[in-house]
Amino acid sequence: MSRKIAILGSTGSIGRQSLDVIAACGMEAVALTAHASTDLLEEQARRFHPRLAVMTDPVAAADLKVRLADTDVTVLSGPEGLLEAASLPEADTVITAIVGIAGLRPTLAAIRAKKRIALANKETLVCAGPLVLAEAKRWGAEIVPVDSEHSALFQCLQANRDRGEVKRLILTCSGGPFYGRTADELRCVTRAQALHNPNWSMGAKITIDSATLMNKGLEFIEAMHLYGMPPEKISILIHRESIIHSLVEYCDNAVLAQLGAPDMRLPIQYALTWPRRVPGPADPLDLWHCGSLTFGSPDESVFRCLALAKQAARIGGTAGAILNGANEAAVALFLDDRIRFLEIADRVEQAMSVVPVIPEPDLDEILEADQAARRAVG
Ligand code: NAD
Ligand code: MG
Repeated sequence: MSRKIAILGSTGSIGRQSLDVIAACGMEAVALTAHASTDLLEEQARRFHPRLAVMTDPVAAADLKVRLADTDVTVLSGPEGLLEAASLPEADTVITAIVGIAGLRPTLAAIRAKKRIALANKETLVCAGPLVLAEAKRWGAEIVPVDSEHSALFQCLQANRDRGEVKRLILTCSGGPFYGRTADELRCVTRAQALHNPNWSMGAKITIDSATLMNKGLEFIEAMHLYGMPPEKISILIHRESIIHSLVEYCDNAVLAQLGAPDMRLPIQYALTWPRRVPGPADPLDLWHCGSLTFGSPDESVFRCLALAKQAARIGGTAGAILNGANEAAVALFLDDRIRFLEIADRVEQAMSVVPVIPEPDLDEILEADQAARRAVG
């Protein structure tokens, strides 16, 4: 299938798996970007021959430029380089695989250049959902989700013409490495324990979010915006095996689910090929050998980040940007061994209680709310 793709964040977990899909499906990578992993970006550029390679770190960019001097690849640097990659005329599709609110401006640039957005960067919708979706509508840019749960919902909604027929979206959640533990047992968990996810191999930030269940909270807000559903019509279902990726309950009580092996290459590929399907590199699902599928409820009194995210969802306005900014800052402190695991929720709650919410913010107000939340975390 012919698609010309720019990957923002090509050296990360989603970025590398996107390149697997591109190679297997005969697509073209026309722009690759990374923050500072020069070795890997050089290797990817030599293999995929993009027109453009961008390193947001200027020192890394200067190094890459020297290394790729014998090729036709143009090397750019900084946030401006990222915006060039997001709006490159040769690309028809942009995979947003940068982590955090850093993905917001490039996603908006890609939307204004009318690209198909294969959206992995959930923080973008959490911080600026209404603004991003309004821009997509205005410019006629398609947003197709990469996140496995949202891809599952997207697939289960394909035959549905009237959103009024949807009773509820059910987001599944693996529960992370600490499912079933009490708050007391979580007091002293280490960085290494939190970085171990039972089913998925992902970047460090989202792995910690999966352990606190903030990831499910961010996905709750992402689903609300993507599918125009109020918070009371979205439920979270613990499903330890990560075989059912999410479900849609209709008004006649029929429930549609999407199943698959836990392999991100499938939702990445579907975001690129939709509305078509083609054979690809994702593992097949072997239901005969995967054992029992189990279901349960999350404990929001232990995993307070989930409760805080739902609170932000109900408040709206800049509450999502405050929640997200505080969480990004708190997770960075935890990864630096400067705060304990349970303090992530404490810091987010603290930021949400001191930073005032603006009901219908513009982009500058969203970015200011993000900064204020980071300052409140300390
Ligand atoms: P990662 O940390 O593995 O990779 C992040 C990529 O972004 C790297 O290429 C890095 O160089 C680049 N980057 C980081 N900070 C940057 C900055 N400030 N400016 C420019 N580039 C920067 O992350 P990941 O696990 O691939 O996740 C990427 C996004 O996809 C996140 O928003 C995450 O929530 C979402 N997501 C990931 C998964 C998964 O399985 N990994 C699943 C669903 C959604
Ligand atoms: Mg997910």
